[in-house]
Amino acid sequence: MKAEIIAVGTEILVGDIVNTNAQFLSERLFALGIDMYYQTVVGDNPVRLKEACRLAFSRADLVIFSGGLGPTDDDLTKETVAEYFHVPLLFHTEIVEEIKQYLNGRYPLSNEKQAYIPEGAQILHNAYGTAPGIILEKNEKIAVLLPGPPREIMPMFQDQVEPYLKAKSDFVMESKVVRLFGIGEAKVGETVLDLMNGSNPTVAPYAKDNEVILRISAKAKTANDAKSMIEETRKEIETRLGEYIYGYDEQTMAKTTAALLLDRGLTVACAESCTAGRLTAALGDVPGISSVLSESIVTYSNDAKMKYLGVSPKTLQAHGAVSAETAEEMARGIRKAAGADIGVSVTGIAGPDGGTEEKPVGLLYIGVCYQDEVSVLKLQLHGNRDKVRQGAVMHGLNAIRKRILA
Ligand code: ATP
Repeated sequence: MKAEIIAVGTEILVGDIVNTNAQFLSERLFALGIDMYYQTVVGDNPVRLKEACRLAFSRADLVIFSGGLGPTDDDLTKETVAEYFHVPLLFHTEIVEEIKQYLNGRYPLSNEKQAYIPEGAQILHNAYGTAPGIILEKNEKIAVLLPGPPREIMPMFQDQVEPYLKAKSDFVMESKVVRLFGIGEAKVGETVLDLMNGSNPTVAPYAKDNEVILRISAKAKTANDAKSMIEETRKEIETRLGEYIYGYDEQTMAKTTAALLLDRGLTVACAESCTAGRLTAALGDVPGISSVLSESIVTYSNDAKMKYLGVSPKTLQAHGAVSAETAEEMARGIRKAAGADIGVSVTGIAGPDGGTEEKPVGLLYIGVCYQDEVSVLKLQLHGNRDKVRQGAVMHGLNAIRKRILA
């Protein structure tokens, strides 16, 4: 089954609201294994809506409409679709009763419009509004009409449309996300090009900030079959790119690193300069971290580095605050001060100012002190201040992870 989405509403076209319904519906349709090649946004205009309808049904079997089911004159989705399907609209007294119930006995005349449903259509109950949803099937084509407000469309789709679509489909879709760090999207693409060209399972890459994600998706008769197809592909990806894989699905870098610390019962403390606490905050986002994250400190100035971390003035004078030597002493210093198993330091030049030829913007040193040994990572990151700082956090978390696993 091929599907399309038509989001109706001039407010989306002019940028007043973001088309989150399309994102929601796309995710759900993908999970159901229903292919989608096009999406449309169209204003509250019957001529253009009819044209969008015609075009979508020329390419797809299932078209899901969001919005335009309200009581006002510019809500035209139902009328336009009924006209396109050449079916009349019939009055339903039971909908009047539902509207009255929803509005605590009130029944504004304008709402009467919502009690008209295309002949032969299935009515979808709206527990959070007055507009009923509609499923209309004719000549092997299916139109699903849903209200615009997210709090109405979401439960209606999940509770009523999904079971309907599942009953029509012979397949289930499963997917798995593989998370990679320390490798670029182009290199990943090159390495798994043959897998990306496959049609079932499919492998799709996308680059997020500082990481690359591969989504493996498989369609099969049963969830178990789909899962074992995915597992085969996952193993193949692991063989080729295993050294860069740090997690799967919802397992972000912070969660992965935190899980390792928790699993091994290792305490950690951070001394942060250019990240100003973001590394600690990333760890702090993970529930349960308080049992291993003992303390952290932000030391921007040289004075603070000397006062709280015991960095020697000689080191700062000879090598500067952004140097491997300072990073090493910061990591040792915080580990000692906190009495933690692992001390981590970040020092760098986030920009946009402060760079020199010798120490350009994006230069970064990350120190990890574990069992009294310090390893220092030197990096040259690119991008604006935010990107450099975010990159520093990811590298910091990864450095902790790698050190534990070493
Ligand atoms: P109503 O009963 O509110 O009139 P409706 O089905 O007519 O519902 P619209 O009038 O098109 O829906 O939109 C109502 C509201 O729903 C919008 O103002 C907006 O807040 C939200 N909305 C509509 N379409 C979308 C969309 N595609 N993505 C996210 N929100 C949307």
